[in-house]
Amino acid sequence: MSIVSVNPANNQTIREYEPLHKEAAMDAIEKAHKAFGSWRKTSFDERKRCLLKFAKLLREDADEFARTITLDMGKRISESKYEIDYCADIAEFYANGAEEFLADQPMERVDANAYLHLEPIGVLMGVMPWNFPFYQVVRFATPNIMAGNTVMVKHASNVPQCAAAIEELFEECGLPDGVYQNLFIPSEFVDPIVADSRVQGVSLTGSEPAGRAVAASAGKNLKRSVLELGGNDPFIVLDDADMDLVLEQAVKGRMVNAGQSCVASKRFIVLESVADTFVDGLKKQFQELKLGDPMDEETTLAPLSTEDAAKKLLVQVQSSIDAGAKVILGGDRPDRDGAFFNPTILTEVTPDMPTFDQELFGPVATVYIVPDEQAAIELANDSSYGLGGSVYTRDVERGRRVAEQIETGMMFLNQPTNSQAELPFGGIKNSGYGRELSHLGILEFVNKKLIHLG
Ligand code: NDP
Repeated sequence: MSIVSVNPANNQTIREYEPLHKEAAMDAIEKAHKAFGSWRKTSFDERKRCLLKFAKLLREDADEFARTITLDMGKRISESKYEIDYCADIAEFYANGAEEFLADQPMERVDANAYLHLEPIGVLMGVMPWNFPFYQVVRFATPNIMAGNTVMVKHASNVPQCAAAIEELFEECGLPDGVYQNLFIPSEFVDPIVADSRVQGVSLTGSEPAGRAVAASAGKNLKRSVLELGGNDPFIVLDDADMDLVLEQAVKGRMVNAGQSCVASKRFIVLESVADTFVDGLKKQFQELKLGDPMDEETTLAPLSTEDAAKKLLVQVQSSIDAGAKVILGGDRPDRDGAFFNPTILTEVTPDMPTFDQELFGPVATVYIVPDEQAAIELANDSSYGLGGSVYTRDVERGRRVAEQIETGMMFLNQPTNSQAELPFGGIKNSGYGRELSHLGILEFVNKKLIHLG
């Protein structure tokens, strides 16, 4: 098993890391368990001081952390900077809000003598992906640390520089030893870790197969779990939409992180009467994207995270084309070093094609043309995923009516699905379960203990 940082902009190896032996990984559990014994007794103020310092350190060295992200997984440098800033916001949100979110909850409507006392449950395991290598970890770790839990993280094996930098930051901000630990381990170690009686829960963000494997471990060991898996978000364009706004949001929604976001807009479902305007406009906008070095601020389309990811995407796209999908733009890779993929638009994708219900993790838009609103809703729901989605219309009531009928965990009007510290994030169906961020995110791994005073 290798843990290697390879720059996807040129496929050059930057640094290799030594993975932990199984015994060392299991020792980490004891360290986290011991740390829990004292961390759970600390005050909110003490935890808050650490996380506010964590946020401050992130902001102070934002440029350097952003560079680390871009070198590990190829994101455009401006997107990396945004990610660091957003991580600081999340840390501050939980540092300042945890005490209120976790306050005792009186149950006087039922019984004046009863209340819920919220308390931490222990050591948690996080399995995290590479696509937002700081954000995904911060989203999992900060609410749980504020709740008094201790956390161990197995980060994706292609972003080790980020994994190491995050652990260092948690050390520097004053967290006691063992409250946060990065484990350089292969995915096979996750099952025995989850099985250990000292570990109380697991949270995974990643692909559906990885989610199924970790949910199986959690299930057979009766551990709590949160899963944030893939998505195939519909972007529904109704006939009364503001088309300039639609096109602007379509490019933004599809090309965020070079298309590698679980909540990127992936299926563009457009009413017939505006379909030509949409397809022509999208093609024009995609043609204007400037593929290149992600460190260059002028670049508007970065490489994918790895050469393997680009190869996998090409196989998926080609299989649709072979099965009859029409290529409006792209459909292939440029002739240059690095994990690049050309901006692509496909139409005439049908349910019998293998990629119809697959997540295309890259700069590929699939456009579906439908006769009316009802057909748009039915097609949007014809997916095994149910993460996010968006609806475009000038009529807020119409937008609300459509949004409420879509089977997802999040719906947005006139903007693609996005993430904010204050708003819950998560899905249904094969996109997983549980919620992160907001006050809900801190409640996933706490014991809602009933106290009855007699
Ligand atoms: P994975 O789901 O394989 O990786 C995510 C994390 O899960 C990594 O830390 C990985 O470790 C770990 N992992 C993988 N398999 C297991 C397992 N059986 N048990 C425990 N942990 C496991 O994503 P990939 O990087 O392979 O990407 C594949 C596809 O997944 C993408 O094309 C995309 O469709 C989807 N994806 C969705 C994401 C999202 O935000 N929802 C994020 C990333 C991917 P390791 O790196 O060591 O394999």
